[in-house]
Amino acid sequence: MKNKRLQVFTYVVLVYMLLAFIWWSVLLFTKNRDALQAKVELLKIGMVAEGLVSQESEFYASPRYLSLKNQYERQERMVIGESIVLIMSVLAGIYIIYSAYRREMQSSQQQRNFLLSITHELKSPISGIRLVLETLLKRELNNDQKQRLGDNALKEVDRLTGLVEDLLLSARLETAYLPHFEALDLDELLPDLLKRIAAKHPDFDWRYSSVDHIPSVQADKAGLTSVVVNLLENAAKYSSPPAPIQLSLHNIQNQYVEIRVSDEGIGVTALEKQRIFDKFYRIGNEDTRQTKGTGLGLFIVREIVKAHQGRIRVQENQPKGSVFIITLPMQTKPVKEAAPKL
Ligand code: ADP
Repeated sequence: MKNKRLQVFTYVVLVYMLLAFIWWSVLLFTKNRDALQAKVELLKIGMVAEGLVSQESEFYASPRYLSLKNQYERQERMVIGESIVLIMSVLAGIYIIYSAYRREMQSSQQQRNFLLSITHELKSPISGIRLVLETLLKRELNNDQKQRLGDNALKEVDRLTGLVEDLLLSARLETAYLPHFEALDLDELLPDLLKRIAAKHPDFDWRYSSVDHIPSVQADKAGLTSVVVNLLENAAKYSSPPAPIQLSLHNIQNQYVEIRVSDEGIGVTALEKQRIFDKFYRIGNEDTRQTKGTGLGLFIVREIVKAHQGRIRVQENQPKGSVFIITLPMQTKPVKEAAPKL
């Protein structure tokens, strides 16, 4: 609210300045014309009195009149030029303030979303574990029931661990992450990861394909695992079973490998395609959103891919959903010495 008022105030001041500049420029321009008129009249009277000219046409062809006219035309051009520069500067100022304001708003909205989602993500597993412990303490349970409660509590602990790991990893990615490169057979690693995620979400139609021959790739195993797992988890999170989710591997001219994760879920609009990789960015509003998350997953994915000198982009899938495409060079040259594994 305070920000909104400040923004309106800034715009009012800028529009006022713009109008004032235009008004002063027009005034200066007309005053310059008036001054020329007056000087011409004065010069004409003087020259007629001195007997230098007898006709209007003689006066307008005289060197004194022409030099006066030239001088005023030069001033006129100066006024117009200066006015244009000033007006353009104000317009550039308005544009810069507007972009900075938009960036500021986006970032504070992201921070707010993050706080809300992280609070929820922390609170719900803690309440889950608390409930399990209370039930275990208060009731007489048979082994089967104890086993089920224990499994539930472990799932919640895993969720908490995942969240804390994501937070730590995203902090490290911004400061101290260097991939530990090794020769990886992606055609072996990817189907394993797919099986792992498929076991967690058995209701989807999971598919793996790799038609080309893929030589081993220089990559960080833990980092790449995190990338693929994040994308597969997202594909499941943002679509509904039994929709197909496809993981595929392609050889691009023996120079790059392309990893594609396609789903037929809710898709990503053109406007959001770049933003979803920003830290804490989640589409929509935390107050209304149904899905769980922190907006860290795709940030982590992008940073790891970048550290592999690769690229990530998202496209529309047919008939619906999205395709996340990662392109990695087959031979990555480590920039510095390899760091310890993630
Ligand atoms: P999280 O899933 O925790 O919200 P991510 O960084 O993984 O965070 O994703 C950021 C946002 O991108 C998500 O909130 C979601 O709106 C959008 N998104 C990610 N993956 C998909 C997908 N496969 N389909 C549609 N939207 C997606």
